[in-house]
Amino acid sequence: MYSSKIISDSELSDFHEGGSKSQKIEALLKEQISSWALAKNNYHNLKNIKKKEFYFDTFKIILQFNSGRITSSSAKVDEKSIKERPCFLCASNLPQEQKGLLCNDKYLLLVNPFPIFDKHFTIPQIAHNPQEILSNFNSMLLIAKELKDDFTLFYNGPQCGASAPDHMHFQASPKNELPVEQEINSLLNSSEIIKTNNSISVYAISNYLRYLFFIESDSFNSVVLEFRKLYDSIQYVTGIDYEPMLNIIVTYNEAWRIFIFPRKVHRAKEFFLDGNNKILLSPASVDFGGLVVTPREEDFEKIDAEDIESLFKQTSIDENTFNEIIVKHKRNNN
Ligand SMILES: [Zn+2]
Repeated sequence: MYSSKIISDSELSDFHEGGSKSQKIEALLKEQISSWALAKNNYHNLKNIKKKEFYFDTFKIILQFNSGRITSSSAKVDEKSIKERPCFLCASNLPQEQKGLLCNDKYLLLVNPFPIFDKHFTIPQIAHNPQEILSNFNSMLLIAKELKDDFTLFYNGPQCGASAPDHMHFQASPKNELPVEQEINSLLNSSEIIKTNNSISVYAISNYLRYLFFIESDSFNSVVLEFRKLYDSIQYVTGIDYEPMLNIIVTYNEAWRIFIFPRKVHRAKEFFLDGNNKILLSPASVDFGGLVVTPREEDFEKIDAEDIESLFKQTSIDENTFNEIIVKHKRNNN
């Protein structure tokens, strides 16, 4: 069924045998933009997006106005709404023109027809399984390694940004486009080192409007083990027995770099207000990475630095809980 959705090398006019995975992905994007009107139109419209930058002490937040994201930002993700719509990530429901590349044997890399970046991909699992990180974290590391030269991989938890919480998927963006990727080296100078040894380092980062954990290691097994422990610590401190609210960004370049943003809620209170008080933002990995996307021009015009601060204060995990997770995680490691 899904095999008819895998694009053949002969359909990729820009790809030559022996080329890298990244070159193949670029060729897929080019092919889809030429053969699929929706993709052509929406990638072309990216030229019209507006951007502005807000500077804080040692970092910046970029605000992007992107009307193409309205469906995703205002998506109803409650159980009833999800059950009542056909799954748009299952191969059988993909638009006829849409084709992809096999990734890590179990995933299909697709051009995202509603882009935030000039190269933006959605990577659903072929099977229809719920959005869930623990059993798919190994795949996330392996796909990040497959895409290493040019792309960054991200994961939005089912309750914090995934518009298909019923179908497991990642997304990919051009490497180093998110402010957090550019700022991480300087952030590490002022962060707390929770653990460091020959194979892995774990940091806790605050003073960044939002709170995050950062793991760096070239050992696959060490990363998997450490992530599991951190997941357990977050679950323990937040007192839940399901998946904690998480946004995760992974890059690979000789070592994995994993940015983990624990969340408190999906949307800030302004999302639910009416009239002039409404601000339509649905923060997910990209936003927590420092690129805040708003689909309404009126919001783009009125959002100021205080609104940005308030957005993260409301939706990031709070300071006390973050500190408790650090304590718990250190204890688990001793
Ligand atoms: Zn599905």
